Amino acid sequence: MPTETAEDCLFCKIVAGEIPGDLVLTTDHVVAFRDVNPAAPTHVLVVPRDHRPNAAATAAADPEAIGRLVAAAVEVAGREGLTDYRLVLNTGAGAGQSVFHTHLHVLGGREMGWPPG
Ligand code: 5GP
Ligand code: ZN
Repeated sequence: MPTETAEDCLFCKIVAGEIPGDLVLTTDHVVAFRDVNPAAPTHVLVVPRDHRPNAAATAAADPEAIGRLVAAAVEVAGREGLTDYRLVLNTGAGAGQSVFHTHLHVLGGREMGWPPG
């Protein structure tokens, strides 16, 4: 079972149940919950239980975790009735990352413009 957590990490606290989250899926490895400030009709964050600061760090430490993250996101999209959706891993503040615990955004339910801006 994953054990690594970080002090003062918002998503570690949601994973641990110390801060409430609107959960949509939990497994041994990931927790998925609705984004508090949704950017689309469906906006879910899928996070590994293990704390790593970003997707690059997760991929380096545990490459299979990235596969589990994507598989969980596909499961969430299916439960939400989405056939077309966007999966996003903002990596670094310059790319829009604001919470430094790896998370995969699942966005859908509207026309998704490209490029994302
Ligand atoms: P990032 O910008 O790091 O890629 O994504 C972080 C996301 O976390 C943002 O979309 C933001 O709305 C969301 N978020 C920030 N604080 C909370 C919170 O306390 N609860 C939930 N559910 N989402 C949050
Ligand atoms: Zn964390």
